[in-house]
Amino acid sequence: MEHYLDNAATTKPCEAAKRAMIRCVEENYGNPSSLHRKGLDAQHEVDNARRIIAKALGCKPQEILFTSGATESNNLALRGTAARYGKWRKKIVVSGVEHASVKQTLRYLRTEGFDITEVMPRTDGLFYAEDFLNVVDKNTCLVSIMLVNNENGYRLPVEQVFRSVKRSFPDVITHCDGVQGFLKIPFRVRTLQADLISISGHKVHGIKGVGALYQKQGVLLNPILFGGHQENGVRPGTESVPLIASFGAAVETLFPTLDDRFAYVSDLKKRLIALLQSMRELEIQDIPGASPYVLNISLLGYRSETVMHFLEKRDIFLSSGSACSKGASSGVLEAFGANDVQVDSTLRISFSSENQEEDLLALRQGLEEAQHTLLHK
Ligand code: PMP
Repeated sequence: MEHYLDNAATTKPCEAAKRAMIRCVEENYGNPSSLHRKGLDAQHEVDNARRIIAKALGCKPQEILFTSGATESNNLALRGTAARYGKWRKKIVVSGVEHASVKQTLRYLRTEGFDITEVMPRTDGLFYAEDFLNVVDKNTCLVSIMLVNNENGYRLPVEQVFRSVKRSFPDVITHCDGVQGFLKIPFRVRTLQADLISISGHKVHGIKGVGALYQKQGVLLNPILFGGHQENGVRPGTESVPLIASFGAAVETLFPTLDDRFAYVSDLKKRLIALLQSMRELEIQDIPGASPYVLNISLLGYRSETVMHFLEKRDIFLSSGSACSKGASSGVLEAFGANDVQVDSTLRISFSSENQEEDLLALRQGLEEAQHTLLHK
């Protein structure tokens, strides 16, 4: 039996997503731009997915743009805003713990003359809204803050910051990388006060290669790709109908169960913490208010990658730090105050509602075996 505990890296596609994809490959394979019936059927698939995703975010369908994934959504949000609104206002404020697709895009924008101000957690490992507000000023064109950190599940104070920013500087564009919060943490676009929100299909039991960007009506973006008229000309290119339909189907399946899954996964996390608490030389990083979907632990004295591969042989799958960084530290855990020993040994456990008690028991047993078998580094 497989024990998949790496759902922040990606999730297993659900049946509805697979069925929708196959339907669009075998039957509705037309180009949505074609004017005949095959085209209209394909357009209907895209419209339907757009409606479902808009409903889940609490926005209008025309406020959803489809992309190839959240990496592209983040690129489009940041570069599109900078190009549109950053001619005179050159400052961008961002948390210091963003995903690489935000961090690296901003690194590029710095070479274009933008001044990037990173806000860090304080020494207690927490972010405070006022630390963002203190650095936003009239030269700021954009504030970008992720909803939930992908490496440790930390929930950033996005609502508080965006609300206050909008009150004092209504022209500032607010962007939220919502990837690790979408369909996991209840939120609506209006309460978040975000102008732009990035989401990804494969983190919510869809298929890889599709994402979306919520673009509030009235907020303009310069395109980063040029071509046809698709997605209002902001994201040209023939729509990936099978992937878009699968994204819609996954969201349709997941959205109604958000609260139940939240409760279930919260309980799962509590039970795992209780199971692991009695283990020696094991540190549990139970961050207050964090997403219930992520838990970091450290098997002190053992390299996380070694433990990960040890567990993999027992069909237990989890990540050492962030899956995106492939073993190289992104600096995010350090920013939260972790020391070298902790960073070196951090394992990220990330749940889905498909996880069961057996997965927790297998993990505890696997970790104990690792302590008996592996050499201290
Ligand atoms: N942002 C966050 C917070 C993520 O966790 C990820 C995926 N690791 C991305 C952006 C990128 O998403 P995608 O894989 O769809 O490009």
